[in-house]
Amino acid sequence: MASLNDLPIRDDLRGLTPYGAPQKHVRIELNVNENTHPIPEDVATDIVTAIAEAVLNVNRYPDREFTALRESLAAYLGTGLTRDNIWAANGSNEVLQQILQAFGGPGRSVLGFPPTYSMHSIIARGTGTRWLAGERDENFEISPRTAVDWIERTRPDLVFFCSPNNPTGTPLSLETIVAAYEATDGIVVVDEAYAEFAPAGLPTALSLLEGRERLIVSRTMSKAFAFAGARLGYLAADPAIADALRLVRLPYHLSALTQAAATAALAHSTEMLAMVDDIKSQRDRLLVELPELGYPAWPSWSNFVLFGGVADPHAVFETLLDQGIIIRDLDIPHHLRVTAGTAAETTAFLEAMAGLGAIGRIGA
Ligand code: PMP
Repeated sequence: MASLNDLPIRDDLRGLTPYGAPQKHVRIELNVNENTHPIPEDVATDIVTAIAEAVLNVNRYPDREFTALRESLAAYLGTGLTRDNIWAANGSNEVLQQILQAFGGPGRSVLGFPPTYSMHSIIARGTGTRWLAGERDENFEISPRTAVDWIERTRPDLVFFCSPNNPTGTPLSLETIVAAYEATDGIVVVDEAYAEFAPAGLPTALSLLEGRERLIVSRTMSKAFAFAGARLGYLAADPAIADALRLVRLPYHLSALTQAAATAALAHSTEMLAMVDDIKSQRDRLLVELPELGYPAWPSWSNFVLFGGVADPHAVFETLLDQGIIIRDLDIPHHLRVTAGTAAETTAFLEAMAGLGAIGRIGA
């Protein structure tokens, strides 16, 4: 068998490692920020009915413009958006990839602020876009001044923000987004994959779209909607952005089955989102109980918590795995990240943390 190095692969891909969150099926999976609640059975029945109808027509290509789905997504987001403001793809990762295909690419660059979602830099590399790593302020925050300084220093073609940020859970102020937008002629992307887990009623970057044709807000059904396996991500932006993405997307990229499933799920958005409050309360429990066990936790507006004070994160990861619990080791010194699960899953995780010896809490 040949190795990767034997192949005439692109020079800029040589030596890279792929996205590699371990995908292990164990009793309690709290590692990739999924919604651990299964979707309600009546919604599942409706989704299956919609797929059953769609499958009768799979001899034909799907609606290339996924019009009904865009209408449903616009109605879900509200805030005056119409289907023309919406674009979708197989997960928000694909949306981000299409954005970089259209606005990045060889000779262009994207500025991000690590620690942030690891796929941002991986998608940048895959599209030949240079990744520029900015730095955050204290507490993983990004002030308007910091964003503007990095933009002025690096002159990127795109700026990627993540709000709330993965893996830290940190929210981003609208002032920072506005300041960044005004400091660049490029595209500003706000990845709002976890927006539904933020405090209810607060405006998100969606409220900034009006009059800002270079601003893109990306969202996903993978998290709050418990739809990770179906693969549906989307964006809201000026209609001209969707026109740009039509130049790079593959025709018929969203299968008729995906369109049917997502549209059916959106018809039940209230029920699909019913678990969000429960997940938020489990997250808030982690924010209180982890520090009580001696692990300081970073404030989080998402469905996960990054916590520190861990003597040996690799050993803790393995010990929990032996007990059938998988969380995430992101190579941040003395830190680990855990997804808020159901009450029972969260309890099992906290009990396992309480039972760690010297590998656990620093100084234990
Ligand atoms: N953005 C962020 C910040 C994420 O954490 C994730 C998934 N972990 C995604 C985007 C991609 O999600 P998907 O492709 O499932 O929509």
